[in-house]
Amino acid sequence: MRKPIIAGNWKMHKTVTESLNLVRQLTMELKDVKDADIVICPVFTALHAVGQAVDGSNIRLGAQNLFWEEQGAFTGEISALMLKDVHCEYVIIGHSERRNIFKETNEDVNRKIKAALQAGLLPIVCVGERLEERKSDKTFEVVHEQVHGALEDLSADDLESIIIAYEPVWAIGTGVNASPKQAQEVHAYIRKIIADNFGKNAADVLRIQYGGSVKAENIAELISQPDIDGALVGGASLKVELFAGIIKNALPENKDAE
Ligand code: PEP
Repeated sequence: MRKPIIAGNWKMHKTVTESLNLVRQLTMELKDVKDADIVICPVFTALHAVGQAVDGSNIRLGAQNLFWEEQGAFTGEISALMLKDVHCEYVIIGHSERRNIFKETNEDVNRKIKAALQAGLLPIVCVGERLEERKSDKTFEVVHEQVHGALEDLSADDLESIIIAYEPVWAIGTGVNASPKQAQEVHAYIRKIIADNFGKNAADVLRIQYGGSVKAENIAELISQPDIDGALVGGASLKVELFAGIIKNALPENKDAE
């Protein structure tokens, strides 16, 4: 059985002091959780301090982005080695805000994944269609292109270190989540792409998160779907009680209950 993984993407929120305040409450609230991997992804400036605060706890540290070069004249960028240096274990790559606002391409996403893997970071690779693409029946086409583009030249072994997050753009920050059926359909499709290209074993172990307006009230039904293995959470990861509520309702007993 795949272990659920719940990650909080704090986006561009919280100073170092605010981040430390949140993480101290989270470590206390979630200290007994063993059956799910918990990841938090603060802003770059808070990574070092938050990394120290979660040290020894069951919460892992992730970043929200990286650049593929190790170092050099790349003003404003940060490398995989620098993220490792502050004890990051995960990194979100290809979030729709990076793709849509900062014009990241599938090729950029692929280069970032390779740099992350090279440095021993676990990429959380985001894919998902926009509203107009869903309305014009292009969801599978878009997801196919994004998954293929992201994973080009990778091996089945590389896949063991990757998490994919299916995040329909129309569900992010809108309060309207994909229905469990809509999400399951795309998750199963992603798993099939992986099986066809990397083999059944790689597909069986791959964890696929759903992201888009996840709350404590909808996670149990989402995670009860056979191909949904966790969640990437934006807004609700900024409040202790909301994020903790999601994690508690995502624990395997809920999956087994279905
Ligand atoms: C996200 O940005 O990855 C996300 C899923 O946001 P929200 O949970 O706020 O919809």
